[in-house]
Amino acid sequence: MSPFPQHLIDGYRTFTSQRLPTEQSRYRELSESGQSPEVMVIGCCDSRVSPEVIFDAGPGELFVVRNVANLVPVYQPDSGTHGVSAALEYAVNALRVKHIVVLGHAQCGGIRAFIDKTAPLSPGDFIGRWMSMFVKPGEKVEQRDHETMSDFTVRIEKAAVFRSLENLMTFPFVKTQVAGSRLALHGAYFGVAEGSLFVLDREAKEFRGISESE
Ligand SMILES: [Zn+2]
Repeated sequence: MSPFPQHLIDGYRTFTSQRLPTEQSRYRELSESGQSPEVMVIGCCDSRVSPEVIFDAGPGELFVVRNVANLVPVYQPDSGTHGVSAALEYAVNALRVKHIVVLGHAQCGGIRAFIDKTAPLSPGDFIGRWMSMFVKPGEKVEQRDHETMSDFTVRIEKAAVFRSLENLMTFPFVKTQVAGSRLALHGAYFGVAEGSLFVLDREAKEFRGISESE
């Protein structure tokens, strides 16, 4: 059996020698008082798109749920086990987060698999079944005339953010908090190559770039 990866041990040592000393009191405080993050981020599993890194967040700041292609399912109060819904329920009803950010990104493998209709990676076809929630019954997701594959992919990556925001509102407890202005929903999109961030202007239905410095 392979040993625990050495670079993770080394990374932990760097954490304890560099970051932990400056954040030790914060960790202790959080351990005593519990977490009270104001922001929930729903992001992709992609190793290049870490919300804590992108938003320079410290311990206790972000309540994060990550899954393939940053998708939020439709509210389904059935006998199934729903991981995203459980995290959402806790964030909204227990932690009372004030913001939920759906963070999409460029070169998303989940979106790519969906677009390319990739063959299942296992008999369970978990990715295929997971990604299928992206499409509403009767809806067709197709490349438009004169649309390059790259533009099509970006459009669908951004559409995943829109769909998740739409699905968030199917949860009664989200809808209630939003209606009472106690919770705001946001969309964002991370450009991996440039490290660029685009924030969704929900009225204009457009993502707008955030400049690196004020
Ligand atoms: Zn992704």
